[in-house]
Amino acid sequence: MKDINLEQWFHGRILREEAEALLQRNGCGDGLFLVREMTNLAGDYALSLAFGGIKYHYQITRHSDGRVAIEEGQRFEGPVELVAHHFTAQDGLLTKLRRPLLRERNVEPMGYKGVTHAEMEAARRQAVASLASMGFRGEPHEAIAKFRRQVEQIVGAVIQTKQPWFHGKLTRVDAEKRMNQHLPLKDGCFLVRERDQQGSYAVCLAHRQTVFHYLLDIDVDSLLSISNGRKFDTLLAVVDHYSRKPDGLLCPLTDPIPNDEQLYEPTPVASKVALPDVPGSGRHKVVVSIGDDMPDFFRVDKEPGFQSIFSESSDQGVFEITPSAISTEDQLGSGNFGSVLLGTYSLPRTRKRVQVAVKMLKVDDVPNQRDEILREAQTMAGLDHPHIVRLVGVVKSNPMMLVMEIAHLGPLHKFLRKRKNREITWLEVLSLMLQVAVGMAYLEEKRFVHRDLAARNVLCVTPRFCKISDFGMSRALGLGNDYYRAEVAGRWPLKWYAPECIYFFKFDTKSDVWSYGVTLWEALSFGDKPYFGRKGTEILRMLEDGERLDCPAACPPEVYQLMTKCWSFESINRPSFKQVLRELKSLCKRAHKGEIRPADLYLPMRH
Ligand code: AMP
Repeated sequence: MKDINLEQWFHGRILREEAEALLQRNGCGDGLFLVREMTNLAGDYALSLAFGGIKYHYQITRHSDGRVAIEEGQRFEGPVELVAHHFTAQDGLLTKLRRPLLRERNVEPMGYKGVTHAEMEAARRQAVASLASMGFRGEPHEAIAKFRRQVEQIVGAVIQTKQPWFHGKLTRVDAEKRMNQHLPLKDGCFLVRERDQQGSYAVCLAHRQTVFHYLLDIDVDSLLSISNGRKFDTLLAVVDHYSRKPDGLLCPLTDPIPNDEQLYEPTPVASKVALPDVPGSGRHKVVVSIGDDMPDFFRVDKEPGFQSIFSESSDQGVFEITPSAISTEDQLGSGNFGSVLLGTYSLPRTRKRVQVAVKMLKVDDVPNQRDEILREAQTMAGLDHPHIVRLVGVVKSNPMMLVMEIAHLGPLHKFLRKRKNREITWLEVLSLMLQVAVGMAYLEEKRFVHRDLAARNVLCVTPRFCKISDFGMSRALGLGNDYYRAEVAGRWPLKWYAPECIYFFKFDTKSDVWSYGVTLWEALSFGDKPYFGRKGTEILRMLEDGERLDCPAACPPEVYQLMTKCWSFESINRPSFKQVLRELKSLCKRAHKGEIRPADLYLPMRH
């Protein structure tokens, strides 16, 4: 594998916008290209290519076998080999690569802002030495390329502590004190501090003489993000990104507040102060989203019910609603534990009356379940996501009532059955399933397992906007109670279950991924019943023999491939929801461009 840093067409960590400006300045002729490093994902590159006066960007991803490819295309040892190939073969690109856009002479590829190449090199050497001690043998640049992510993380850890903006462990009060020693505070002055919890950080940013604290979430893959913002491998990458553009912050990070101990006196006892509200931070509430990079067709953030109008639950736990605040009307549906009614709820603060769904729980029918239900409601209250039906609160009467956001159009399978081949296209269905993947990726990040994902538990709010429902109920009332143990045929949602759920009662995110595959199948079949007419034992035999549900007529083969990945017999071979989401986003983009489509061409195509 060749060292990309030696290639003059490699520009390092430059932004997409910067790449476009460079292509423009250099005439934007067909086949003019450069390669850059993605500023958020260590180890991923982007090929920026001009064609027909337009700039296109292809993400070059490193796959688990250590090789790189553009999407699911041909794999290469490294980006240098990939570029060499596309000089002679177009192979999926809009044009062959013709003219490399070279860096200026004596200019190194762009690194992190504020970090010199010498510092970076020293840190990389240290990282490679750690890899060697873990048993890696080979050329240093190969180690750096192959284990780019690990190297970047070690490099980040080495370098971040030496950065002027990194203040180590510091309370919020002390951080403000330090910043206030630099009055008048220029907009964009910032520092990064470690919070009390291990590995948890905050960016403190000055704007209009006030210090705002943006907390950095850390996900299961150790990626850092400012709530629903982009994800980064290291603090260095966070600072680098937000120095280049504000991307949701009040202003970009400009001037580091230096970490010079002599300048600051420690505060003996830190008192608690209120965190100022961050204006415009509404969008930071959501952790996983469809993403700004998707075509408008897939964007649903303007749909009713996307933003929560209920502020009662969330951090405070389950909100108890007084019975007088709720009135109920018609029945919306009925489930295993009672009926669901249309209700009206007066919002406590504004007294505004809004429609809600009220689930009446016949707790008396299920002995000792009251506490269990309340505990589960507590879990649900901790979930706040546009694609998960939000719990508004609980009425602790008898029957107990769970008050939830309403989804007027009801369960997805019934919604689709009514519209098959008429009012909804397969691409619109795909968009709904993209939203389900977003909701599930959010649950995955929160380490929650749904256990009952199926089209019947996806509710449509509008024809283009849906939410996952019944979260938690399967856990509260699921395993170990009559619903799942019932001998009554059809009660146990076996057709949605991964083999290990059936054999070992083992449920985890990967078993949810299996169920997602079945739900995707239901959706693209416009609400058909999976394994229709087959008995449980027959289905199990079929799965063991490697047989799976067939590709629905309205499903492009590429999407079916994703489904079958979700149905890998061994859970370890199934993708995570994060990967499902990534792949589905790429498929949706291609479908939107008309690059992929179902074999059945008689289906209506609005796009
Ligand atoms: P469940 O008991 O959750 O399976 O719900 C039974 C039925 O009630 C569903 O199939 C829907 O038709 C309806 N339903 C449940 N929750 C809601 C909601 N939040 N909004 C609208 N209808 C709902």
